[in-house]
Amino acid sequence: MQRAVLALGGNAISPHASAGTAAEQTATIGLTMKAVAELVVEGWHVVLTHGNGPQVGNVLVKNELAKDVVPPVPLDWCVAQTQATIGFTAATALEWELAQRGHDAAVVPVVSRVLVSRDDPAWDHPTKPIGRGVDEAEARRRMAAGDQRWVDDGDRGWRRVVPSPRPLRSLDRTAIDLLLDDGAVVIANGGGGIPMVDAEDGPPRGVEAVVDKDLAAALLAQEIGAEVLAILTDVEGVAIDFGQPDQRWLGRVGVAELRRHAEAGQFRAGSMGPKVEAVCGFVERTGHRAAVGALDDAIGAVHGDVGTQVVAEESP
Ligand code: ADP
Ligand code: MG
Repeated sequence: MQRAVLALGGNAISPHASAGTAAEQTATIGLTMKAVAELVVEGWHVVLTHGNGPQVGNVLVKNELAKDVVPPVPLDWCVAQTQATIGFTAATALEWELAQRGHDAAVVPVVSRVLVSRDDPAWDHPTKPIGRGVDEAEARRRMAAGDQRWVDDGDRGWRRVVPSPRPLRSLDRTAIDLLLDDGAVVIANGGGGIPMVDAEDGPPRGVEAVVDKDLAAALLAQEIGAEVLAILTDVEGVAIDFGQPDQRWLGRVGVAELRRHAEAGQFRAGSMGPKVEAVCGFVERTGHRAAVGALDDAIGAVHGDVGTQVVAEESP
């Protein structure tokens, strides 16, 4: 049985155009789970992972507004909360879609942690914008009040930035493996996973950081021996000269060629950059195939028919 890791972009759950109510998110997730169910019925052992940008932003707003009533919770707690809500919603929808197809498999969301290094260079360079934008005066007030960093994020106002260290190990990998071996569909490493560091004396502890979800998906795919990693988003694949008149979508591409495009500065940090880094790393380390494709055609992306299909060596 072949394992596949599917990473669902934030748009899978909360499109920019929607208000992001619970009902809307449930409906959007429900649509996505139809394709996932098809893949499971075909015989794929599926692990789902997902973004959580808009959801974690909402939790942070509640933190802020309620801070004089209940103590604000740290960022690792916020990530855990979003894993739980997105996880149970996806599990409920997917179980139902499977039952419609006469298929009876357990779907298990795992509240999952990833290990990051205390020595990661990211700690000195927070780059990941989180939460809602505020005006400059408010951002400066927050910076003066504590150890937070805020930056001008253009149209979105001033936003808090946090470190985004590299994920080193999925701490719940053993549980995930057991579940897969028993035939379950697993939802794990959502929102990049809950970031943890090793402590000198005592258990690992959560940290104020956000792990990139595409990198956490690639790590998990490697750890569980996935045949395919499919990163699903709101465009049809990876483009060269994206947004330019001569924009060109990449179809099947060798990992060395994709690396050359990345080195030439083709992919923006914070959007396509981490996806390309994730797929290249996975293909280089495992020799297996990785795809970047549209959420609407998850099945084609996993089969290798559509999107950008990254392979170890391009056959002539
Ligand atoms: P997700 O929520 O799925 O992680 P992101 O917004 O982070 O989605 O990344 C997908 C976006 O990347 C696309 O909507 C597109 O606007 C942008 N993008 C930037 N550079 C490229 C590129 N070279 N090719 C394709 N898309 C690109
Ligand atoms: Mg993204």
